[in-house]
Amino acid sequence: MDVAFQRCILPSCGATYGIEEVRVECQQCGSLLDVAYDWAKAAPPAKLAEFDRSLFNAAEPAAQSGVWRFWPLLPFAPRASLVTIGEGQTQLQRSASVGQFVGLERGELHLQYEGLNPSGSFKDNGMVAAFTHARTIGAKRAACASTGNTSASLAAFCSVTKLMRAVIFIGSGKISYGKLSQALDFGALTIQIAGDFDDAMQRVREVSSQLGIYLVNSVNPFRLEGQKTIMYRVLQGLGWQVPDWIVVPGGNLGNSSAFGKAFAELKQLGLIDRLPRLAVINAAGANTLYELYERRGLRWNDGAPQDEITSKYYAELDERQARASTIASAIEINRPVNLNKCLRALADMRGVVREVTDQEIMDAKAQVGAGGLGCEPASAASVAGAKKLRAEGVIAPDERVVCILTGHQLKDPDATVAYHTTDQEKFNQVLGKRGVKRASFANRAVAVSNNLEEIIRAIQLYS
Ligand SMILES: *Cc1c(COP(=O)(O)O)cnc(C)c1O
Ligand SMILES: [Zn+2]
Repeated sequence: MDVAFQRCILPSCGATYGIEEVRVECQQCGSLLDVAYDWAKAAPPAKLAEFDRSLFNAAEPAAQSGVWRFWPLLPFAPRASLVTIGEGQTQLQRSASVGQFVGLERGELHLQYEGLNPSGSFKDNGMVAAFTHARTIGAKRAACASTGNTSASLAAFCSVTKLMRAVIFIGSGKISYGKLSQALDFGALTIQIAGDFDDAMQRVREVSSQLGIYLVNSVNPFRLEGQKTIMYRVLQGLGWQVPDWIVVPGGNLGNSSAFGKAFAELKQLGLIDRLPRLAVINAAGANTLYELYERRGLRWNDGAPQDEITSKYYAELDERQARASTIASAIEINRPVNLNKCLRALADMRGVVREVTDQEIMDAKAQVGAGGLGCEPASAASVAGAKKLRAEGVIAPDERVVCILTGHQLKDPDATVAYHTTDQEKFNQVLGKRGVKRASFANRAVAVSNNLEEIIRAIQLYS
């Protein structure tokens, strides 16, 4: 057996494929694939603390990567072929004020700020892994469907490395300007489809298989290998201690799936002694996982998830022509491609799923901005979800909670400005139409005339 190979996630199938094969599903049964390792051959470190020392010497490009720092835990490509644009140099930040907002009186709230990645979202962690795989197999073009951040990330990797040409598929009118501007600026071929993300996803699968273009959506199992390292960095930020909760927004469910795999492997390797609990947070306007897991009882079921529950729900969505709708555009997805992998993560990590409204998301986002590094709306779903779980008593007041801030504040300035504005029309246009009624934590600009005394009076009054 090779050090790394691909394997169907369903234990009842268990088909395996070589690491050099390009697949996004099992040829036998159509399920998702994992990247799997023969750990005896991979020989990872005996203690996590060994990762405090660099594996690479400073002259090697991979020394600049917060993903490849953990290469022995994702050794699917030779060290010499690792691509990097400096991804994953992110930070775990403790925030007392966000902790207070969430209701962790005696506990700790930490924010894992993935907005600090080169393209401004956690997607770079996964893209570097898929990109490295694509390079090792000699791909010339790579494609994705995107609500914005995957395309920004792919476009960045293509423009920096010049190793491939980016082809991105976006739905019409759904993508924020911050994200669209990145794809255009980086020179990606941008195909705008009359439809939403779920439509674009279906088309890009067809197109990439017909034209032999390398697909980098999170159905690509290599993406998730890179995203495992977000959890390694969380552990490192906590001195290699396991927190009580990981709270993450759920869109296509790649991140939550990757987190579950990261912890399951660390436990299997004897590098941690327990797993944290997982909370996946949907937006109420795109709540497929919440509906299926919390209301209809869909479970991983030891590797035999009841797919009929899922297909029945999707048929209902089709029948009422339901479209996902939330201000949190990065999670505006009704058919999460990694659903079954996420069910496995929820089983391994005793997970829960919650939905939060756009009102709750925007209020949580304002709290993050004021008391931590700012984030885009989807990211704030994690904080809003933690608050809800704390209010329900599912999270205890003395627990240690890590919320993942998936994307940068500047990805969607429209939503932020609309929240803080005094212009009611602007507020209604962006937020009011989504059921947001008030900006509970707005920081409004103070309007004064162009007059020195009046300006001084305003500063004295308000500061
Ligand atoms: C992609 C994305 C998500 C959703 O992550 P999944 O892995 O698809 O569940 C959440 N927030 C931001 C900012 C994203 O870019
Ligand atoms: Zn299979």
